[in-house]
Amino acid sequence: MCTHAADPFAPFLDPLETECHFLQTAVGSSSHAPSTVVYNFRHSGWAKTRHRVYAALESIEGERTRAESFRSCGSHAQVCESLAEPGVYRIATFNCHDRFCKPCTRFASTKRANVVYDFIKGRMVRFFTFTLKHNKEPLGDLLDRLKAAFSKLRKRKEWNRRVDGGVVFLELTWHERHGWHPHLHVIAEGRFFPQQQLAALWKECTGDSHVVNVVAVKDARKAAEYVAKYATKGYSDAILERDDTLREALIILKGRKLSSTFGSWRGLNLHDDEHTNEWVPLASLDDMHRQALAGNVYAEALLRHLQDPNKVPSPGPWEPAKYQIDNGNGQHPPPSKPLHQPQLEFLESDHRFSPWL
Ligand SMILES: [Zn+2]
Repeated sequence: MCTHAADPFAPFLDPLETECHFLQTAVGSSSHAPSTVVYNFRHSGWAKTRHRVYAALESIEGERTRAESFRSCGSHAQVCESLAEPGVYRIATFNCHDRFCKPCTRFASTKRANVVYDFIKGRMVRFFTFTLKHNKEPLGDLLDRLKAAFSKLRKRKEWNRRVDGGVVFLELTWHERHGWHPHLHVIAEGRFFPQQQLAALWKECTGDSHVVNVVAVKDARKAAEYVAKYATKGYSDAILERDDTLREALIILKGRKLSSTFGSWRGLNLHDDEHTNEWVPLASLDDMHRQALAGNVYAEALLRHLQDPNKVPSPGPWEPAKYQIDNGNGQHPPPSKPLHQPQLEFLESDHRFSPWL
């Protein structure tokens, strides 16, 4: 019987070797399929927490599909070619997009921070933080209250006179002593807002909380630091470390927006969606690897390029006939059917991947 039978990630659980080059298999020094290397690399560094999140998802009624998607995140690695630039290749995988999946959130929040940073370049912006008084309320009630208070604030004349538009991010922390502590980080464009006046206004909107922070940032480097701090946090790791807080957060945050734009910034697309339809999936990474092992020099050249695109040139535009060549040993498996495109997402956003190096 399989020794990994009790482990939910068993199919992918080969031990991680960060130095693993998948082409070593071709010379007999590694038993890793490249997709396993890609998958393991994606989830290296958070295995324990990942198991905990998966177990929590499995235990929540109605979340089986979500749990399955979470488990499969980073699998189905495919080799894709650019439609616009034939001969340029990337690897894409299926990603779960769950906000409790670390690699997915890290990726999404970096994109979000880049979008915001590009947008605010050259604009005078202010960074606000709005907090709620600690009172050990259940998380759902706190979030409802925070949302209602912020929408009240945005209807106030004093706010509208000074703030034209902005983007708001929810951050959630949890402390042993105080319980849940949701707060809002806002990046906004407008005029000077005296802190005391804002604090008084926030107290009127919340009924009991007056702690607000506002900073004007002119220096571009400082602004970038603030954006990274405001746009990428989401929730603190402490929440994932306890079963009760994790479960509550998984249930309560489901379907809630953690970021949105308002006023003149409405419509700013925080997701910077990549156009996967500009890339054509050619074959699964493992299939290409099997082809290379079976002696297909074309498949091998492509894999060597993918593994180290800076050093190994691309073999040029895709030539299916070369990929299909049977070298006479009859061992060629037929190419696997590529996944439907919308399911795919590239390993890295702005450069070609060599994540397993
Ligand atoms: Zn994921």
